[in-house]
Amino acid sequence: MADLSLPANPEAPDVADDGVWLTCIECGHDHAPFDEIIYTCTECGGLLEARYDSYPTFDQFEGRTSVWRYSAALPFEEGVTLPEGGTPLHRVPRLEEEVGVRNLRIKHEGMNPTGSFKDRGMTVGVRVAQELGVDRLACASTGNTSAALAAYGGRAGLETLVLLPAGKVAAGKIAQAALHGARILEVDGNFDACLDRVQDLADRGEAYLLNSLNPFRLEGQKTIGLEILEEFRDDEGRFPDRIVLPVGNAGNTAALYKCFRELVAGGDLAPGDVPKLTGVQAEGAAPMVEAIREGREETRRWEEVETIATAIRIGNPVNAPKALPGIRETGGTAVAVSDDEITDAQRSLAAEGVGVEPASAASVAGLRKLRESGEVDAGEDVVCLTTGHLLKDPDAAAAAGSDPQPVPNDTDAILRHLAGQSVGGGLLGKVRSLF
Ligand SMILES: *Cc1c(COP(=O)(O)O)cnc(C)c1O
Ligand SMILES: [Zn+2]
Repeated sequence: MADLSLPANPEAPDVADDGVWLTCIECGHDHAPFDEIIYTCTECGGLLEARYDSYPTFDQFEGRTSVWRYSAALPFEEGVTLPEGGTPLHRVPRLEEEVGVRNLRIKHEGMNPTGSFKDRGMTVGVRVAQELGVDRLACASTGNTSAALAAYGGRAGLETLVLLPAGKVAAGKIAQAALHGARILEVDGNFDACLDRVQDLADRGEAYLLNSLNPFRLEGQKTIGLEILEEFRDDEGRFPDRIVLPVGNAGNTAALYKCFRELVAGGDLAPGDVPKLTGVQAEGAAPMVEAIREGREETRRWEEVETIATAIRIGNPVNAPKALPGIRETGGTAVAVSDDEITDAQRSLAAEGVGVEPASAASVAGLRKLRESGEVDAGEDVVCLTTGHLLKDPDAAAAAGSDPQPVPNDTDAILRHLAGQSVGGGLLGKVRSLF
């Protein structure tokens, strides 16, 4: 079983570099962080985690509105930045009232430079790549990782290679990867197959892997948790009870849990104040939900996965060994939602001015479901993470929204059209909002 405990007084092992090293969560072996390229434990194949000789505290965070504000929690002081992070923590009063919780906030990660939280991981990952002196970066992606890799790799002047599942990536994401200069390979297979291939390429020394298997990506993504805790506390004088997020490879779930563990170890977060990590998956791709329900340590690989939420269309979540304990230890849960529930949540968010892609809306759909079943209490302070921007998947947005109405090029005709539609349109709008 994975050991994710952090010592109260960490001591840097000999292999550490400036107080940073990598520890295997399965066998506990320590590894040098930047001597040679490793992604998993060379002793046992287990997942690695970055470790530090000191823990971050809130008073160390200052200045810049970017991931690098949190350098006290990161392996470096700065890196290639666009700048990422500093995303809004929206209030959504109507949705809050409808869902029925004490507080509902939306952490909109779609407001990052390339439109998803992947930028937070990439700014740190590319900095590490520079330290290692590699010249080609690669990832498998359902889309957003490739957009972030292409942008950050390009800015760093490095070659970028992305492997995408043919026909299963939203239009906006491919457009980004293409324009930011990545070499795009469309693989005849799903995301999990792409990850198998790119891991082979990385093992053969052909490229530096920047999927969330790379422990340094998760270090950057920890800053989502740090921002939520800081801002929520400034606004409300306490930390949120629960953070609800969509789960694909479970990198974000793992990153948030690491954020909390480090704050607890450093004494700035009481164990009882740790938000409950609550993961949401699509019904057609829910191996994490299955593992939580069945009380298993590992996920079973789903060979066939399908959902409108392409960013979480993943059957073999690589970070499950880090994320499952996070969900359990924080007292959270995991829930699956249908594509229709996702689309409804996407509309509800959009009605409050928050435009997100389908995977992101899964968080709100999941919260709704857990409120209805009573698993989430009406007295809770909840933050839902929306992971990617509406424009990432313009086809899904257009399908979920209303259709354009053709009118003649004539003002009187347009007025007649508006008068004729207003009753029907208003009624239709009301009917839709009931479902
Ligand atoms: C990557 C991604 C996810 C899944 O995140 P994991 O860390 O892999 O669980 C969810 N939503 C969007 C928009 C993403 O890009
Ligand atoms: Zn090991």
